[in-house]
Amino acid sequence: MSKSKQCESVRVVVRCRPFGTREAGCDNILEVDDKLGQITIRNPRAPPDEPRKVFTFDSVHGWDSTQSDIYDDAVRPLVESVVLGFNGTIFAYGQTGTGKTHTMQGVVRDPEGRGVIPTSFQHIFTHISRTQNQKYLVRSSYLEIYQEEIRDLLFKDNNRKLELKEHPDFGIYVKDLSSVVTKNATEIEHVMNLGNQSRSVGFTNMNEHSSRSHAIFLITVECSEVGPDGEDHIRVGKLNMVDLAGSERQSKTGAKGKRLKEATKINLSLSALGNVITALVDGKSTHIPYRDSKLTRLLQDSLGGNAKTVMIATVGPSHKNFEESLATLRYASRAK
Ligand code: ADP
Ligand code: MG
Repeated sequence: MSKSKQCESVRVVVRCRPFGTREAGCDNILEVDDKLGQITIRNPRAPPDEPRKVFTFDSVHGWDSTQSDIYDDAVRPLVESVVLGFNGTIFAYGQTGTGKTHTMQGVVRDPEGRGVIPTSFQHIFTHISRTQNQKYLVRSSYLEIYQEEIRDLLFKDNNRKLELKEHPDFGIYVKDLSSVVTKNATEIEHVMNLGNQSRSVGFTNMNEHSSRSHAIFLITVECSEVGPDGEDHIRVGKLNMVDLAGSERQSKTGAKGKRLKEATKINLSLSALGNVITALVDGKSTHIPYRDSKLTRLLQDSLGGNAKTVMIATVGPSHKNFEESLATLRYASRAK
């Protein structure tokens, strides 16, 4: 595939969240130019005349961006291609506390607060209700990767570790992963709520756990239609929505022993993901290193090729997060 074609398949957008209530007195180090798709970051310790770093992305969204701004810009086109039978993946990447879960889930009860995942439910089922000659089957799964181990979030015995397998015809799949057929947006939302509940089971500190694990909500949309030949034609599109582990460098937090080992694994899958995306965007690489982590292996058929990928990188505005925000912008700009 040509370079330009591959580049088109990966879109990178940045979302900057507003100051939080605990950030009174913090300096803003980010400047967003949404017309140019640029974000400027200022080193709070540098002399005022030092040149600032400017990054350009497919688009950038400032602190006042709404959930629907993000959906319409970054997600809607991708979901539209999934219902046509293509695969797609949306990632939220960034330091813990910068708005990954806000972007992916949001406040589900509030119509304006709904994030990418619940909005995609409505989008998909609205699309289906408007079609006439096709039959659809929508299935969903919800899983988590924690320390390179896969857990089913929809199965009662969710401490069981699942294995990745490869099928000669269907490719990579998770053996024994639950898959729930849903007929409307309410049902699939229920599936999401169930999975969210089981995410925290068995972990004393939910925040810590969610900042160290990757959560993947997978929707498979199967469409069958009788063709001019009188035969049934089936198209299958897969949509992966991924709330990644926090990107903060764990080694800096002084972790030791088990904690450090865990930290190394978190960073491993994030760097493996970065390498895969860089190789895809580069277009010259003949080898895409999917096999380097569970996350990239699992998503192999939804990254690159005909699949569309959107990376939503989230950053906070405070001077206290300068190093991490800079690291996030650097990571995201590798993916451009
Ligand atoms: P993460 O999942 O990256 O750790 P969260 O999504 O939990 O971060 O966000 C941390 C806090 O910031 C939450 O209270 C969330 O509601 C708030 N927040 C994040 N992004 C935004 C935003 N764009 N607008 C308003 N509040 C936000
Ligand atoms: Mg989160």
